[in-house]
Amino acid sequence: MKPCLAPLSAALLGAGLLVTGLAATFAGHAQAPAPVQPVVLKAAHLFDGRSGRMVEPGTVVVQGERIVAVGANARVPDGARMIDLGDATLLPGFIDAHTHIADDHDDDWAAGIYNAMLRFPAEQAFHAQRNAKVTLDAGFTTIRVLGAGDFIDVALRNAIDAGYATGPRMIVAGHAIGSTGGHCDSAPYPVTRVVPSTPMEGVCNGAEQCREATRLQMKYGADVIKICASGGVLSESDPVDVPQLTPDELKAIVSEAHTWGRKVAAHAHGDRAARLAIDAGVDSIEHGSFLTAETLQLMKKKGVYLVPTRTTLLWTESKLAGYPPKIAGKAHAAYTSHEAMLRNAIRIGTPIALGTDAAVFPHGLNGREFGDYVDVGMSPAAALMTSSIGAATLLGVEKDTGTLEAGKAADVVAVPGNVLTDIRATERPVLVMKQGRLVRGGE
Ligand SMILES: [Zn+2]
Repeated sequence: MKPCLAPLSAALLGAGLLVTGLAATFAGHAQAPAPVQPVVLKAAHLFDGRSGRMVEPGTVVVQGERIVAVGANARVPDGARMIDLGDATLLPGFIDAHTHIADDHDDDWAAGIYNAMLRFPAEQAFHAQRNAKVTLDAGFTTIRVLGAGDFIDVALRNAIDAGYATGPRMIVAGHAIGSTGGHCDSAPYPVTRVVPSTPMEGVCNGAEQCREATRLQMKYGADVIKICASGGVLSESDPVDVPQLTPDELKAIVSEAHTWGRKVAAHAHGDRAARLAIDAGVDSIEHGSFLTAETLQLMKKKGVYLVPTRTTLLWTESKLAGYPPKIAGKAHAAYTSHEAMLRNAIRIGTPIALGTDAAVFPHGLNGREFGDYVDVGMSPAAALMTSSIGAATLLGVEKDTGTLEAGKAADVVAVPGNVLTDIRATERPVLVMKQGRLVRGGE
């Protein structure tokens, strides 16, 4: 359906029936145990995601779900299963900090909305599972889901953790939160046709209602809170750059989320909207198309991450014909400004976490984001680090994953050749391992 345009209302889809069953919060890993035989991955090159340097040759020793040794001279345990990948690069499993895994891609904007409206949440959940599988096959062993209808993201996260479904480790937001008529208000239809969204579906007005919306998402399982601080591209009624939450609303959301130990991701194209969100204490700015150098400096000073979603800006620019004229105009304006903004961010040293907005483009193409950063002047090593240590830190999972180090989860990707001389190799993984289990390659 319409990613970043926010999910359809639960009322619209008659979805209340699913919610209580999905209310279980994160229950840890209850999957079948990983193989007990040690597995040794060997390749000509290894990029650990922390040092920024290439190690040659590369070895990763895996025992169960964990990495036990990494390096050129890592000791190979007796009886280990050897997987020699030849001229390839071993990397930490990729992390995408901005996806909409429960939404399907459709280049025909209107058809995408229509088709999504026809489905009950249970049916949409099967689509989400397919999207998660495709994303994992592309090498993304961890993703953040920034907005999904009907708590499908919570359900899928729990099912993956329980071993009932296949997909990346997921940090999920539930419904994205925003004001009436804003980018996160997914029901812009006459009230006689479609029931308007409420705080349960993320629409709120006034500090106390926004606090309630935040509490509701956390109550039903959100790991992170997503807000629409500015207008958006794929929504009908709003200007792309204007602020859509007041300082009081922003502060209520951020204080409530932070009290629960949850981070806040702010969708913001416009500079003034981003400034208000940063002043209120958000942890990341998503998209950032019109951010000024001054704001990017402020983000560096405060440690606020930029999540560029560059692949989406490029994709929408190449597909303008599929959008209504108003939306095509907004997409083009954002695209026109985004490249200079991203070059500024790289020059200034604003912290960047890799994130794509997958669903605006087909799931599974997430790896394009690496090359898209290099195309605007980032070094290949720095681009890889936006996913590894960068996104892991933003997501708060850096103690468990994001780098190839002893003790971390065995989340590993291998790509052909030397990734520092061919960054686009990230789009062609030959092996994917998640928590010690091979999900692609290694036969
Ligand atoms: Zn998005």
